[in-house]
Formats: sequence, C-alpha cells, structure tokens
Amino acid sequence: MTTSRLFADHVTINSGPLGPPSPKFRWSRAPVAYGARVTPVNPYRPGRTHTSRTFPVVPPIYQTTTFELDETSYADIQSAGGLHETWYSRFNNPTVDAAAADVARLHGARQSLVTASGMAAIATTLVTLLRSGDTLLASKQVYGDTDDLLRRDLPALGIEVIRIDAFDTDGWIHQIRTRRPAVVYGETLSNPALRLMDVPAVAQAAHAAGARLVVDNTFATPFCTKPLELGADVVVESATKFLAGHSDVVVGAVTTDDLALHEEIQRRLITFGGCADPHAAFLLWRGMRTFRVRLTEACRTAGALADQLAKEPGVREVVYPGRDDHADAGAVVGRMMPGAAGAMLTLVVEGGDQRAAAMLRALSVAVEATSLGGVETLASTPFNSSHFNMTGEERLAAGIQPGTVRLSIGLEGEDALLEDFRQALDATSDAAG
Ligand code: PLP
Repeated sequence: MTTSRLFADHVTINSGPLGPPSPKFRWSRAPVAYGARVTPVNPYRPGRTHTSRTFPVVPPIYQTTTFELDETSYADIQSAGGLHETWYSRFNNPTVDAAAADVARLHGARQSLVTASGMAAIATTLVTLLRSGDTLLASKQVYGDTDDLLRRDLPALGIEVIRIDAFDTDGWIHQIRTRRPAVVYGETLSNPALRLMDVPAVAQAAHAAGARLVVDNTFATPFCTKPLELGADVVVESATKFLAGHSDVVVGAVTTDDLALHEEIQRRLITFGGCADPHAAFLLWRGMRTFRVRLTEACRTAGALADQLAKEPGVREVVYPGRDDHADAGAVVGRMMPGAAGAMLTLVVEGGDQRAAAMLRALSVAVEATSLGGVETLASTPFNSSHFNMTGEERLAAGIQPGTVRLSIGLEGEDALLEDFRQALDATSDAAG
C-alpha cells in the first residue's frame, strides 16, 4: 500500500480536512490484518494514536505536559491531590515513572522518585524532613553545593547545622546521643578523599535517638553500596553520574521504603517544581540498561589502575577503597562496599597542584573535566574546581593534599588508561620538584 493510499484511508475515516472526533480509542492488543490501518486516527486526539498491534520494547518518551482526564482521574485529584494519577507531568509521567522503577530496583526498594537534578533530590528531601528549630547533624565532607545548602540556606530557615567528619564513627554516635538531631546526613563515599561513612553504625545510633538518616550515594552507587539495606532511611543521588552514565543528562533520584515519607517528598517535589523532564528521565532509563555491565568493568579497571599507578614514579599516594592501605580498609569497607570498591580513584602526585594541573593537560585518553560517572574517564584537580573556594590549609584539614587528582574511571580499558597516565606523569616529571 502506498503512502497516498494510506493517507486516503485516513482521510476517509476522519471525513473532512481534520475530520470529526472519532469514538474514544484505547490501546488494544487485538490482532489487525496486515496492511490494514491499525487505529482510527483522530487528528484532534493525536495522543491516542498507536500505530502497531505490538508494543515498544523501550518505553515511549511521554513528552506531554497533560493527559486526558476521566472519572478515575477526578477521584484521585479530589481524594489524594492527584498524587497517584497520571494527569499532569509535574505530578506523574510514565517515562519518569519507568526510570524511577529502575532506580528502585537497583536499591531493592519498592519505589523511587526521579528529580530534576541531584540537588533537587537533596534539597527537597532535607526541607521535607526538617522544621525551624530542628538540628541537622551532617558530614563535613559533602559535595560543594550541598555544603552551600547546609551553610547558608538551611540556617536561614532556622535549622541548626552541626558538622562532623564522615569517617569519625564514634563522633557521629556521640553527637547523635548528645545533640538529638532530627536528621543525620552524609555521603557514603566522600569526595575526593574517598572516605567511607559507617552507615550501619550511624543508622543504629540515629534510630535509637529518633532521628532519620539520609545519605548521598552518588560516588559509591547502588552497584557497590545499597544504603537502605544498611539501615539508611532515605538515599539521595545525583543520577547525572553513574546511574545515567553517559555525561549527557542532569537528573536526580530519591529512594525510601517509607511510603508515607515517599509521598511527603513527592508533595514537596510538586510544590517546589523539582520534577524531571520526560526526555531526561528517558536518558536515565536508557543509561540504566547498562548500569551493571558499566560498573562491573569500571570498578575492575579502577582497581587494576590503582595497583599499577601506586608503583609509578611521581605518584606519592593512591587512594582506592579496594586497597589494603585505604584508611577504612577492613570492617568498614567490608560492610559498606562488600562486592566492589567503586570506579572513583584519587591520586596524589609529587610536585603539588601545579604539576597535577599540568598532568591533566597532558592526558590524551582521559578528559580534563569535572563531574563523574560517564563512560569516558574524567580527571579533575579539586584545588581549582570542586574545592577552589577553600584555602590550602582548609583543603589540608579536609584531607585534600597538594597534588590531588580525582579520577572517575570509564570504559576505555586498563591498558589505554595506564599508558595515558604514564605518559602524562612522564611529560610533567620536571615539575615534580
Ligand atoms: N552529590 C554529589 C556527591 C555530587 O557529586 C553532585 C554533583 O556533582 C551532586 C550531589 C549534585 O548533583 P546534580 O549536579 O545532579 O544536581
């Protein structure tokens, strides 16, 4: 059948330039003869068009703001504020829901929320849980914009914020018992020192004191660490990184198995407008198809590179949670990262920050860029990017030595990356002092 013939059928069905509205059409699996027009197309209702008897393997991108209403929709709007119905995309959208279901699956949870960014996930969760007069006990080693939220925005809302070293387990327990925070917050694996928070120990103390534990699991990823299984109440993630995995979308996620809390956070996402765009959610969904395969390869390469680079002249220190010389090696790494030690790797090179910066410029496989979690290896120096607003002394106090290089290992392969780092170290050896 030619295109014009098809078009003629279409015009006949709809009789008229755009045609009168056809009877309500719902997707159906009823068999249709080959060559027959599958659905009566009503040009006034293009969203009802479905051109095949079969179903797509990949979820469609529902790039629509709004959905046709029926009695069920009105019932949900009137009884639950439209929280469960697919009626307006700031509330719910099938493509966003598909991505959220996959994040939940990775955490072994019943549900997740996918958000506009990692910061939308973090800010919305904390503002949902905290009230003026509450205390938040938080790690000192958090992502820069989270740090701004803790230093500026939450205190401005009347929330007291107390800080503690992520790896100081006795300190967490003592502060929880004495300061009685409403919420305890930390990152499972910190940036760039790659220190671990002992989530089971902190969760136990938090729950005994009636506090909730929220953790950012962006660096560790659910491939290595499943915080809900370790006792955390809420996991927040920059899905921009390893979850989406291709450096092509900014998106976030919140996961909790507490349904009431999930809905509370969802309500704030709706009122603060932190919803994800359907196309962004699709890219997250697509990236997560290969999450396990990507992380298996990237973690293996990171571990191998850590051991090789530790032997290189010019490398003063290699920080990787899978190595015996890591500060949290033993019980904490065993509990927090039982199967794989992640795809993040930190080096300290001889010659300080200037040599580290020159070394990044000399790379030809790894890319000098901030962010992490893509298929390409990304290299950055905290002194001029993530931690530029600290003095050298403040960086030292935070465990960031001069010459620190942060690497997010991608999929280029161990040999190509090792050769690249070797030649960059070699090319800058004069600067090693
Ligand atoms: N948490 C961590 C640990 C991060 O590294 C980042 C961003 O780099 C964020 C949160 C914020 O995520 P997003 O950029 O998706 O808002």
